[in-house]
Order: sequence, then structure tokens, then C-alpha cells
Amino acid sequence: MIGHIHSICSMSTKDGPGIRTVIFMQGCPLRCFYCHNPDTWQPHKGEQITPTELIDRISRFFPFFGKDGGITFSGGEPLMQPDFLFETLSLLKQKGIHTAIDTASAIPESMVAKATNMADLVMLDIKMNDEENYKLHTGGDLSVALDYLRFLDKANKRVWIRQVIVPKINDRAEDILRLYKLVSPFSCVERIELLPFRTLCKEKYDALGMTFPLEDTPEMTESEIESLIALLPERYR
Ligand code: SF4
Repeated sequence: MIGHIHSICSMSTKDGPGIRTVIFMQGCPLRCFYCHNPDTWQPHKGEQITPTELIDRISRFFPFFGKDGGITFSGGEPLMQPDFLFETLSLLKQKGIHTAIDTASAIPESMVAKATNMADLVMLDIKMNDEENYKLHTGGDLSVALDYLRFLDKANKRVWIRQVIVPKINDRAEDILRLYKLVSPFSCVERIELLPFRTLCKEKYDALGMTFPLEDTPEMTESEIESLIALLPERYR
């Protein structure tokens, strides 16, 4: 079993509970306007590695995880490699390591259920809150993400919802309330995280000879994002 990974971030405090090692995996079926990792889009690029080799590489970080931390699989779209993910998650479970999948869920749930069931937490990035904007800004379908959320609810998974907030695209109070209305009926949802749009990725686009579609869009300020977070009920923050 061979997987394709883009890179490893040894210590992060922004990718799930506690201190975490993040595995960025190759491949993504979406093309989000604000993507920070366009270098992960191609599924067969990156480093080839087996689940055992990957775990051998990252096991030196395990002692730093404490009681809350663990491993997060991000990307790209980690569920693009469901068999590799399943096998790696299974090995980590045997070692008692907490695992999370950071996904936009653009792949039918029937193809990714087995891998998902092996993870402790799913961070589901709902890119936009209506079909028209979802299609326009990602090329994908909101219905696939919502079907996946229904599946997660039935499976009693722990779920954190995430959304990147972009000025003039999804930063109005009504956008946040629409997100809340979409996800609050699902009892599996523990948190809703609003992440501020950033432009740090422009250098990556330049290096790839690509144009960053939002290069003229200003970043969200801390106070702007905090005022949007305050619109959410306290139990989700
Ligand atoms: S889902 Fe993530 S990796 Fe894929 S295009 Fe969107 S932001 Fe980029």
C-alpha cells in the first residue's frame, strides 16, 4: 500500500485539539478560489510512502501530544486516498494515537466511509453555504458535503465544522447565520470554526506560474473575524 504525501508539519496547534502533527496529502478534486495549497492538487505527485514508513517517520512526535493531541490528515483532500488513509488510521488506533481528518468531503460518502469510521474526529470544511456559490468558488457540489455530514451524524462521529471567511464573498452576518442553519440540526457538530482568509499563499502561486485569483482581496482582520464568531451560539465556539 503506497500513499502520496505532500509534506509533514511536526507541531501545530491550529489543526484540531491539542498539539498535533499534520500530514498534508496529495490530491484534491476541488479548485477553491482561495486555496492555500495548490501544490497538493495533483494526486500522483509528492512523496510515495507506506503507512508503516509514515508512522516510523512521525513516531518521535508522539510524546509531545499530551492527552488531547494527535495526528491530523489534511491536504489536499485526504479522503482522495481512502485505502491508504484507512490503513494508516488503523495502525495509529492500535498505538492509541488520537486521529483527525481535515476534509472538504468532495467525494461520495460510500467511497470514504471505511476510512472515516477509523478516525476519532472529522473536521469538515464546508466551503460555501449555498449550491450556487459552492459551484462558483470550488467547482464542486455542496450536496456532497451535506450528504457526508448526514453520514457522520448517523455514525455518531465527533465533528468540527470549518469555513474560511473571505471578504465580500461569505463575510456577511447572513452568510454566517446560513452556515449555522445548515449544520446546527446535526447533533454530531461540536464546534463551528471560522477561519480568516489570508494571502500568504501568493508566493506558492507565483512559484507554480499560476495566478492567485484573490490576490487583490484584503485579508480578514482579527476584529472582523471575532465579530462574526460572536454571532454563533457559545456552545459552538
Ligand atoms: S479543498 Fe482544500 S486543498 Fe482542495 S482546492 Fe479547496 S482549499 Fe485547496
